[in-house]
Amino acid sequence: MNIVLLGAPGAGKGTQAQKLVADYQLAHISTGDLLRAAVKAQSELGVAAKGYMDAGKLVPDSLVVDLVLERLEQDDCKNHGFILDGFPRNTKQAEVLDSALADKNVALDAALLVDVASEVIVNRLSSRRTCRECGYTGTAADETCPRCSGEMYQRDDDKPETIQNRLNVYQENTAPLVDYYDARGLLKKVDGDRPVDDVYADVKALFGL
Ligand code: AMP
Repeated sequence: MNIVLLGAPGAGKGTQAQKLVADYQLAHISTGDLLRAAVKAQSELGVAAKGYMDAGKLVPDSLVVDLVLERLEQDDCKNHGFILDGFPRNTKQAEVLDSALADKNVALDAALLVDVASEVIVNRLSSRRTCRECGYTGTAADETCPRCSGEMYQRDDDKPETIQNRLNVYQENTAPLVDYYDARGLLKKVDGDRPVDDVYADVKALFGL
């Protein structure tokens, strides 16, 4: 099963992806995680991407696209399929993805929109905390990571001054992908403003899992 996840930052895409990956062994391709790893490693890509990320802007397509295309070549994407989380983020990226998958004779099964109103998103992102070690997403109530006991921190781009910027970027660049995938008959939608396990139950029902 090959899925693209859509939804505003903080909608819960990563959380739903982590559950699907654990239960169905899909490869999880999160461009945000890949870019944060590059920043941490201070690689050439990381150094180039950091300023955009800290400001809540999209990293240029030229830096992100190759990262994803290389990741899609890895064996784990061929076993049970993949979940793209945070990619595509604009129409250009969606077109590049379509043509790369067509070249490999691979089809997308769905674009899943995790739908949450923007007022809810602002509250969620402000209290979001992330594990420095394993990337687990928790809240300000998690003093250490419930999964690996690692240190929880607030991402620079989850600070209040950057959140509105990220939402504007989402509305302008990424929200049009909902229509893009709807027009191709691939759109599926869940109400993400509910407890994680309720959302996940709907996700599984939508995919007949
Ligand atoms: P995320 O963890 O998905 O919220 O991504 C964090 C940040 O990484 C975003 O605010 C962007 O700066 C950058 N980023 C992640 N995915 C992409 C993408 N597909 N295109 C451009 N920038 C991206």
